[in-house]
Amino acid sequence: MTGEYAGGMGISYAQVAMCAQYLLGKNPLEREKIWNDLKRALRKHDRFGLGPIDIALWDLAGKLYDAPVSELLGGYRRTLPAYASTTHGDENGGLDSPEAFAEFAVRCKELGYPAFKIHGWGGGERPASIRREVATVLATRAAVGPEMDLMLDPACEYETFADALTVGRACDEARFFWYEDPYKDGGLSAFAHKKLRELIKTPLLLGEHVRGFELHVDQIVAGGTDYVRADADYDGGITGVMKLAHAAEGFGLDCEIHAPGPAHRHCMAAIRNTNYYELGLVHPKVGGNREGKRVYASDYSDALDAIDARGHVPVPQGPGLGVPIAWDWVAAHEVGKVVYE
Ligand SMILES: [Mg+2]
Repeated sequence: MTGEYAGGMGISYAQVAMCAQYLLGKNPLEREKIWNDLKRALRKHDRFGLGPIDIALWDLAGKLYDAPVSELLGGYRRTLPAYASTTHGDENGGLDSPEAFAEFAVRCKELGYPAFKIHGWGGGERPASIRREVATVLATRAAVGPEMDLMLDPACEYETFADALTVGRACDEARFFWYEDPYKDGGLSAFAHKKLRELIKTPLLLGEHVRGFELHVDQIVAGGTDYVRADADYDGGITGVMKLAHAAEGFGLDCEIHAPGPAHRHCMAAIRNTNYYELGLVHPKVGGNREGKRVYASDYSDALDAIDARGHVPVPQGPGLGVPIAWDWVAAHEVGKVVYE
């Protein structure tokens, strides 16, 4: 029986190397014990290494019990409403103007998406750069009408709190669903975002850059966010996401999962207090066959056309993560390999 996961980042695997000797010989079904031991072992770091290890352990458990991970986690839904999450704005004929974002949002609405998230440009000469962000927010709402949820994620590109406030007021006017990580505090200051929440009406989504379960909860308690962000790669795997989702549930808040992927589909399928699956990143000129379709030896996809007519994506129903990895394709593209034994 093998637990498998295709994901994570370079920094994750540097930390996996730190944990490898500890893991050899451990009972792979004691995920909670392993999670807490590794949380301590990686306490001086961002704990990214926990993610791939924990996700692979859940995949193994699912295969052993012959059940999808979402069923082991509890099971709440089998399909997930998705938002089209765009690439950042560009300057060369793609998402290069407020009108281009507005047109793409209309196309996504026609495809069936119930929601659309803008990643703007960032950088550039102020105040023109901020005026373009404001124009994009307003043009997109005007184009899609009231029947689509819209979100904005500047990904911490705005220079100042004032910029965050200016664009936040546009989000209020356009009745945005959430406003995410607006400016260059890095999405970290609970104090500043509590102030921002006093000045605008649009709910904030912070937490993508907050590392550590306890610090996420501290950010909630300090009034620094409305929605709670969670990511299995960043926040300690499936175990970490579920702890955070349940912590948010205890505060009566919703937990919104960052970025697509099989592990995230299983988590969201087992969480009540969540709204949308992030499908992306998508762009009007990028076709339907992105990386995900090649890594998996199945029809699993996180491309623009992966949704059904209602704008939902399915939750894989096979054992474990339910998405066989195309190891032939991986081997053909291998640039290095490490075996711990
Ligand atoms: Mg984000």
